[in-house]
Amino acid sequence: MEKIKMAVPLVEMDGDEMTRILWKMIKDEFILPFIDLKTEYFDLGLNHRNETDDQVTIDSAEATKKYGVAVKCATITPNAARMDEYNLKEMWKSPNGTIRAALDGTVFRAPIQVKGIEPCVKNWEKPITLARHAYGDVYKNTEIKVPGAGKAELVFTGEDGKEIRQVIHEFTGSGIIQGIHNTDKSIESFAKACFAYALDTKQDLWFATKDTISKVYDHNFKDIFQEVYEKEFKDKFEAAGLEYFYTLIDDAVARVMKAKGGFIWACKNYDGDVMSDMVSSACGSLAMMTSVLVSPDGIYEYEAAHGTVQRHYYKHLKGEETSTNSVATIFAWTGALRKRGELDGIKELVEFAGKLERATLGTIESGNMTKDLALITSLENVNVLNSEDFIKAIRKNLEASL
Ligand code: NAP
Ligand code: MG
Repeated sequence: MEKIKMAVPLVEMDGDEMTRILWKMIKDEFILPFIDLKTEYFDLGLNHRNETDDQVTIDSAEATKKYGVAVKCATITPNAARMDEYNLKEMWKSPNGTIRAALDGTVFRAPIQVKGIEPCVKNWEKPITLARHAYGDVYKNTEIKVPGAGKAELVFTGEDGKEIRQVIHEFTGSGIIQGIHNTDKSIESFAKACFAYALDTKQDLWFATKDTISKVYDHNFKDIFQEVYEKEFKDKFEAAGLEYFYTLIDDAVARVMKAKGGFIWACKNYDGDVMSDMVSSACGSLAMMTSVLVSPDGIYEYEAAHGTVQRHYYKHLKGEETSTNSVATIFAWTGALRKRGELDGIKELVEFAGKLERATLGTIESGNMTKDLALITSLENVNVLNSEDFIKAIRKNLEASL
């Protein structure tokens, strides 16, 4: 078979630990034999981030802006223990945070559903994609532990010196207060990314907050979504036969439990944090969760939702066998290749992505899987494979389908 040609390079961001090992296997087994791969390669492994004073992360984000599509391996976000382990010059910031800020993007996460790994919620036939606003609210709060009686006020001082002042509470004893914020610009980017991604993936969009209680703060989110929708997306949604609706967060939760799936659920920062954990754990495994960062102007960065699987990596270093699930990382590659194919009009690339995904799911459905899935599958006669053999089994299926 002749290798599939690419026109525009994919931005490739390599990473750390066990996922770095899987990354190479995935490229060697599924990509390089079949595709004349064109990438701009960036090594975001922690050693190289440290050597370049993290410039490599910034460069990779800039390249993503230039080319429009990236695929990223999981990376270590350093903490105190990593400072010693890697002898770091600084506690470098989370690469995901840096890239997200550079692209002003929103992260969409969806479970990969497969026969044999059924979600706890039986009526979820299709994946529910969660979009979490990743700026502000309680994640950028200011808190005070109130020591005793006194008055708490909310004050805004404009550049012109004008004040807006409101009493929060007249305390008669000790208590707590919290100040949170968001910006119209960030909410607008979030809304645009959600509408654009819904159109791109042909799914309805739900958005929910608690605007009945939070009549200014949450209401502002609702209003901005509605404005963006009417100004830029209403016609496109109608033409595509898609629906956007706003509802209260409690109503959304009730409806989600009864829904069939196959839609995007946009949430504020805290709701998204909690609800994405709920959706992913109800679907079985973090290793079966895709994640894509989408900018408001339609730039895409695909990755797995899980981390570098450190515990498995240490076993691997000791020469012990691992059974690490590579599905989410494979789907990061197929997502990026499909998008590249769509943008560049390369039909073969789009088809190849579909075939690799089906070969991956088919492998699991035939009872061949990694340990994390074997523990939760409803299939009988399961064959538990190690990291490498699972990839080899998929390769066999893939070749049969080509
Ligand atoms: P993790 O890598 O997601 O792993 C947590 C546990 O989940 C693993 O120990 C394993 O459980 C299970 N698991 C996750 N992915 C799996 C897979 N593909 N196959 C099988 N089991 C899987 O999270 P972590 O251990 O908290 O974090 C490790 C490093 O990843 C940290 O340095 C963190 O900074 C980084 N991280 C990066 C990203 C990112 O780049 N997007 C996201 C999160 C965390 P068992 O050990 O029980 O088998
Ligand atoms: Mg969480």
